[in-house]
Amino acid sequence: MRLLFLGPPGAGKGTQAKRVAAELGIPHIATGDMLRQAVAEGTELGLQARAIMERGDLVPDNLVIAMLLERVGRDDATDGFILDGFPRTIAQAEALEARFGGAGLDAAVVIEVDTEEIVRRISGRRVCPNGHVFHIDEAPSSTGGVCDQCGDSVYQREDDRAETVRNRLHVYRDLTEPLIAFYGARDITMHVIDGVGGVDAITDAIMAALNS
Ligand code: ADP
Repeated sequence: MRLLFLGPPGAGKGTQAKRVAAELGIPHIATGDMLRQAVAEGTELGLQARAIMERGDLVPDNLVIAMLLERVGRDDATDGFILDGFPRTIAQAEALEARFGGAGLDAAVVIEVDTEEIVRRISGRRVCPNGHVFHIDEAPSSTGGVCDQCGDSVYQREDDRAETVRNRLHVYRDLTEPLIAFYGARDITMHVIDGVGGVDAITDAIMAALNS
């Protein structure tokens, strides 16, 4: 099963995609995580991506497409995968079509959350370098500035600052949201899920939709 999770930044795509991937036994492929890792490692790609990500703009299609196509070609992805954060533009979606044929995907899960809630969520989000996610009000790290799961320090992502969040939302509306219509016009199953509620309840709603 080739599955896409789509929705605005802060909708909970990453949280949910990880859980659903574990349930389905397929890899969770998150281009944001891959790019942050490239930045942390100081690779050529990371050097090119860093300033762009800090502004909340999109890394150029050719770079992200090459990175993603390499990833989906690995052995663990032969039975399918969940894409989180890719495609983010029509050109990226077309690259998936070219690689896999048809729409490139079997189904999409669209997670809906309104703008006010997104800003609240993202501005309170804290992360550790290994991708564990906390929220200052809802899911704080019990040890303060240290990750409960791995003991690394917990901080705010550069692109989670308020000014950058506004830019990311504009970029989403302009470039990524049109993918809902793009896939709506293709032969894949679209599941629209309300992203406001408990994390477990939302996972259950997604699993129920996928199994229906
Ligand atoms: P979120 O979904 O919370 O906005 P991500 O972790 O998915 O954040 O992405 C963070 C940043 O990484 C994006 O703002 C963008 O700069 C870059 N990025 C991630 N995926 C892509 C992509 N498919 N195309 C271009 N840039 C991307």
